[in-house]
Amino acid sequence: MRFKWAACYVWGIVAVTMTASPSLGKEQIFSIGKDYPVVKPGDVSSDEPVKNVVYMIGDGMGFSHIFTAWVANKGKLNLDGFPVAGMARTWCADKVITDSAAAGTALACGSKTKKGMVGLSPSGERLDSLIVHAADMGKSTGMVVTCDVTDATPASFFAHVPKRTMAWDIASFLPASRIDFLVAGGLSKLQKRPDGRDILGEMKKEGYSIALDRAELEASTGGRLCAILAPGHLAHPGERGDVMSKAVKKGLDVLARNKKGFFMVVEGSKIDKAAHKNDLGLMMEEIFDFDRTIGVVLQWASSHPGTLVVVTADHNTGGLTLLGGDKEKGEVICHFSSGEHNEAAAPVFAFGAGAEKFTGIYENTDIQKKILEAMKHDSARKESRKKACHQKHLGEVGLEKQAVPLAQITGFFTALYFRVDLFVEYCTIL
Ligand SMILES: [Zn+2]
Repeated sequence: MRFKWAACYVWGIVAVTMTASPSLGKEQIFSIGKDYPVVKPGDVSSDEPVKNVVYMIGDGMGFSHIFTAWVANKGKLNLDGFPVAGMARTWCADKVITDSAAAGTALACGSKTKKGMVGLSPSGERLDSLIVHAADMGKSTGMVVTCDVTDATPASFFAHVPKRTMAWDIASFLPASRIDFLVAGGLSKLQKRPDGRDILGEMKKEGYSIALDRAELEASTGGRLCAILAPGHLAHPGERGDVMSKAVKKGLDVLARNKKGFFMVVEGSKIDKAAHKNDLGLMMEEIFDFDRTIGVVLQWASSHPGTLVVVTADHNTGGLTLLGGDKEKGEVICHFSSGEHNEAAAPVFAFGAGAEKFTGIYENTDIQKKILEAMKHDSARKESRKKACHQKHLGEVGLEKQAVPLAQITGFFTALYFRVDLFVEYCTIL
């Protein structure tokens, strides 16, 4: 009997060690072979009003991951092209070490919440994400991620559930999500569901065209699009190729057709997953794929003034340390000290219109607030310009004296009725 217990105990230790990570704490070497070129971004003004926003999240990608990738790509990354950098504290409402659900909710909705909660406050109230705010302003919206669409980070932008594991429930929020251009994985949660709902069918009714592989995605020409490219997460970079950067480029071109601009969120979703596994080679490939996508966005933003690009992470994963390497050869020697997330501040990089707001040290929730403020400021400017034109027109036709006070009174009460924040803005304009 005693022998049995001892055997169980020994096996328990072995099993925990095996599932935690086969390479935890061991030195790992990665060598890039052929490095990739990086973009030289244009000299764009930070003072332009913010019309378009591209919000890019490297899941689990901390400063050490970025510096390691910089050495491995022989001393360069597209991230070098960002003129503004800051850092964000990632703690969540009930833990000092966050997860992708609470951190995703902070980045999407601007509120700290409890670990595991998606799009809800700690007491369970629904929170609006930047997708909803942008759509309310008349902007188009997009999402490109390399994971299952029900994964915690993308889910934080459209779903509201108390537990991140409620994948069926998360998927059921998609048809009413207000995302105009969606590229992700996760087909298995949209069809043959326990509740019998056909999410793709419902999305068709909402005006989406559906793409189920890369060829169908590339053939799409505009309108609302839902491209679901895998049953779960997308494959590793070696297999999926440049689908992320191509999808993002397509999204930028399609969404920019809206004169009011757009908001798009992009996630390098699987950096975190490779770091949890302590797989250095795979993690490097995921970071490079994300950085190449950043290059595509930088190039686009350089020729489209009024575009704000923000790159950040939800948290750090794996306790990565660079022990040494060779920048000329593109070789790095690293080890992971854990298979989990840690406390280290998340990097924030900003480029283009409104970028200067992102310098300093702040909370992860402030990133959402800064983006929202920048988008609102632009909308408010346009409104007041429209109002000025309207008043000028009324003056020209001799109606100014009667019409303006009436318009002001109506606008005043409309703003008061619908939105307190618009009401405040209205008073400022008045
Ligand atoms: Zn993680």
